[in-house]
Amino acid sequence: MERTVVLYPGLGVGHLVPMVELAKVFLRHGLAVTVAAVKPPLDSPDFSAAVARFAECNPAINFHVLPPPPPPPAPVGSGSDGKSASPIVGMLGFLNAMNAPLRDFLCSLPSVDALIVDMFCTDALDVASELRLPVYVFFTSAASDLAVFLHLTSMRDSINTSFGELGDSMIHIPGCPPFKASELPSDILSDNEASRLILLMFRRHPESRGILVNTFESLETRALRALEDGLCVPGRATPTVYSIGPIVSGGGGSDKDHDCLRWLDAQPDNSVVFLSFGSLGRFCKKQLEEIAIGLQKSEKRFLWVVRSPRIDEKNVFEPLAEPDLDALLPAGFMEATRGRGLVVKLWAPQVEVLRHRATGAFVTHCGWNSTLEGITAGLPLLCWPLYAEQRLNKVFVVEEMKLGVEMRGYDEEVVVAEEVEAKVRWVMESEGGQALRQRAAAVKDAAAQAIKEGGSSHAAFFKFLEDLPLQVSRGMVSA
Ligand code: UDP
Repeated sequence: MERTVVLYPGLGVGHLVPMVELAKVFLRHGLAVTVAAVKPPLDSPDFSAAVARFAECNPAINFHVLPPPPPPPAPVGSGSDGKSASPIVGMLGFLNAMNAPLRDFLCSLPSVDALIVDMFCTDALDVASELRLPVYVFFTSAASDLAVFLHLTSMRDSINTSFGELGDSMIHIPGCPPFKASELPSDILSDNEASRLILLMFRRHPESRGILVNTFESLETRALRALEDGLCVPGRATPTVYSIGPIVSGGGGSDKDHDCLRWLDAQPDNSVVFLSFGSLGRFCKKQLEEIAIGLQKSEKRFLWVVRSPRIDEKNVFEPLAEPDLDALLPAGFMEATRGRGLVVKLWAPQVEVLRHRATGAFVTHCGWNSTLEGITAGLPLLCWPLYAEQRLNKVFVVEEMKLGVEMRGYDEEVVVAEEVEAKVRWVMESEGGQALRQRAAAVKDAAAQAIKEGGSSHAAFFKFLEDLPLQVSRGMVSA
């Protein structure tokens, strides 16, 4: 009988994308794969469209959208009182409630060999334990983030303040470059429900049988070594960490006919700066204007994904609305940049754009998928972190991997036009920018080597498959 794994991606396109790519790796190794997708409580068209697109492009993967949990949970973006501020509390509460539908679904399957859960879905470890299923975590960010978050769980027990109170003090974690406490995700800076739940989530990672990380050995050698040596979870055993990446989308699908790709076809090699800020990134009007002025003054070619500002600043999951470019961008900008610049509304086929020969640099919010997509395309990165662990990723990209420079204003109210102009010029025409480009090209080759037969990630995946118990059915799992 075919071995079957169930992948449980949690919420959000940013987590669904790498899980689908992981599913393809399983398929290539002859395993049957089911993706048990979670529909967000405030269903966004982006999610439904993404699942439909993935299912259409990957007929060999079984996609199953789990039904909502029985009692209606508080909507994402609200806490138990229905209106508290942190979306993460609502999100983790919702995922906790999803244990029941997940359990029912797993029980409905004839056999399951293993459950692979997203890093945010550690509550599902309880379901796996109840059903006696081997369970692995898929960590969809950098190994350095994993090192940091695992270490923070014990660090929090040994300090008397919140992480936020440490301010700009430097934090030293084995295997990682030092970083300011203020670079940690905002949700864990205060002593509140959000930080308690996030730390609990990472405390639970070591309960899994292993952790698959979307990275590769030569990109994060020090962090992976520290994890392997057990330095990140003092006093507890770290499960085996398998660095199996980079797993990035191969592009393709209907996106390959997008107009912006035809526009890129008409541009010279390595001449276009691409600006895109993940599935959730959005700016206020003032920030959009500063970017526009900076791009215009840089006189460089650009391709920019523009979205309308959020109505509710606190709701990161607010559905995307079509932006009114005339109202949002400075008067005359579109005419002044016609021919050398292109604005794409809402969403671009990012992987195809990054891999296009005309694209020369990537202004990114440092979401880990985007970061890996930029790295595997061999592009220098201009790092503009927005939320979650992106500030840490910026530190790793700039200080450790040496693949990018930061947009310094990310920490200010806005990144000003002068910085946008200066950094774009720097990366496209300076000697420093050229050196960064060469380094990016070398790391692109290293990434390709890692996933080839005999490469480090290829070997790690085989090691993981060896660990996967053979032909176990529910209730019959040997340890
Ligand atoms: N993405 C895209 N087009 C866009 C914006 C984003 O295809 O216009 C994709 C991008 O290629 C990546 C994912 O959405 O695969 C975003 O994931 P990431 O981890 O970078 O950021 P998140 O959305 O989780 O913040």
